[in-house]
Amino acid sequence: MKRRLAILGSTGSIGTQTLDVVRAHRDLFEVELISALNNTSLLAEQAREFDVNNVVICNPDKYQVLSRELENSDCKVFEGIDSLCSLVAGANVDIVVGAMVGFSGLRPTLSALEAGKIVALANKETLVAAGSIVTRTMREHNAVILPVDSEHSAIFQCLLAAQGNPVEKIHLTASGGPFRNWPKEQIASATAAQALKHPNWKMGAKVTIDSSTMMNKGFEVIEAKWLFDMPADRINVVVHPESVIHSMVEFEDGAIIAQLASPDMREPIGFALSFPARITVGNKKIDFATLGNLSFSAADTDRFPCLSLAYESIRRGGNIPCALNAANEVAVAAFLEGRIGFYDIARICREVIDGVNFAEDPSLDDIFATNDEAAARARERISDNGIY
Ligand code: MG
Repeated sequence: MKRRLAILGSTGSIGTQTLDVVRAHRDLFEVELISALNNTSLLAEQAREFDVNNVVICNPDKYQVLSRELENSDCKVFEGIDSLCSLVAGANVDIVVGAMVGFSGLRPTLSALEAGKIVALANKETLVAAGSIVTRTMREHNAVILPVDSEHSAIFQCLLAAQGNPVEKIHLTASGGPFRNWPKEQIASATAAQALKHPNWKMGAKVTIDSSTMMNKGFEVIEAKWLFDMPADRINVVVHPESVIHSMVEFEDGAIIAQLASPDMREPIGFALSFPARITVGNKKIDFATLGNLSFSAADTDRFPCLSLAYESIRRGGNIPCALNAANEVAVAAFLEGRIGFYDIARICREVIDGVNFAEDPSLDDIFATNDEAAARARERISDNGIY
């Protein structure tokens, strides 16, 4: 039986790489549903190539354009997040690939979990914003989350060798991003174009900026906390510029199990889609004869304050990580537009998490309210009196 996929965010970086894996394994997978926010032309092209049954354009303004592009096909075209939420729960979906960007992935992810689906999750912001609700929903409905984020896929793979032994520590590797060796004064005047030049990974714009600030690594600490039920003080970030070791798990006897592969997202995507089997994904294999040195160093939270903000937000708990995520989404968008400087991202996040109304045990409604409040506070600071 082929596994039937719903790919949310199919026109983005993870979405297109997921379809690369499917293209190479048509005997294993079929695509039941794809969705995108705006990119109607690529979405229509994908729908035809993979003979997809249901296509959702999340931006309702684009519905007419997409309908026209697909009028001579068998695809059913839908618009809006509500349609997406009901379709992911459908009986003909086995695996939901969560590859939407940011907070927008939360609702469809929860719908998939409520329907007891396997969710291959790349959209870490869903766990950052609502980790307790997402993991509770997963447990209550016997759903499964398989990590697609390369570090978390690595940890998951290392844990398969744990044989039930308790994990002492998780070592989350970080490339350090494009500014790893830059002095603070130079980072302060970094442009979006410079931040978008990631040395190792091919990713979308949002996560690439988050990598340059190391907010991405901070979010990954929060993601690991929820996925692996591990307190944040036992999740250690280690800078490893080569991005060959994708993360490690340490046991009480000091033994450490690491997962290695060349930095290519198709490897964690393929493993999540085919788990527990392994399949070819077309990536470059590691050649130890030419690999050279692997290097490691501590993360520098003075030059990359977003990493500390993420740890602090987990310690404070409740809705604070949600507020951090919302402030960061607004600040990153403003940085990409050239409206604020690099360190303004961290400044805005700090102000928002200190100012937001605290909810210790947030309901889903509280999470949506926090997301709106924090985003509004961030937008206010950006436009306010030219402070930024
Ligand atoms: Mg990652």
